[in-house]
Amino acid sequence: MTEKEEKLLNKWALSHLEQGYCPRCKTQIEDYGVLEVQDSCIYYPFTCKKCSFEGREWYDLTFTGFTDTQGNEMEDKTIGVYKENTRVELKQDVERYPHFIAKKGMKGTVIRNDDDEIAVKLDEKLIGSEEWDNCVVWYKQDFNTGGDFSEEVSNDLMVIE
Ligand SMILES: [Zn+2]
Repeated sequence: MTEKEEKLLNKWALSHLEQGYCPRCKTQIEDYGVLEVQDSCIYYPFTCKKCSFEGREWYDLTFTGFTDTQGNEMEDKTIGVYKENTRVELKQDVERYPHFIAKKGMKGTVIRNDDDEIAVKLDEKLIGSEEWDNCVVWYKQDFNTGGDFSEEVSNDLMVIE
């Protein structure tokens, strides 16, 4: 590194704040206090050994998921897991009276998951489902008057493979 480059770099360092370095004199911070929470941020209080500046180093909190109290990650129960081309299996018999009953254990592929419906094309031919091109379909509009669409779908379908 040339002298000029070094000077430029020092100038840059002095004009930028960096995590772990005193914002006043740029010395590395060695001792932090106990973290504190304020609104949805946290901070570590510190005192700079070199210049005695007292300050707080701040961090945002970012949501990363849920666990239970044992630390087990919680399964995503939303219908977002049934993306197109996802392989699924029926967890229970799914009745589409009077056309057919798709039996528990039947497997298929999600071919549609949009604002209106989720459609699963079954591997096996299912008599009575010809009109839907061998698909079982869950229509969101059926739940406009009550019931939980995503709960119904996740009761019927599980992701496999
Ligand atoms: Zn300092």
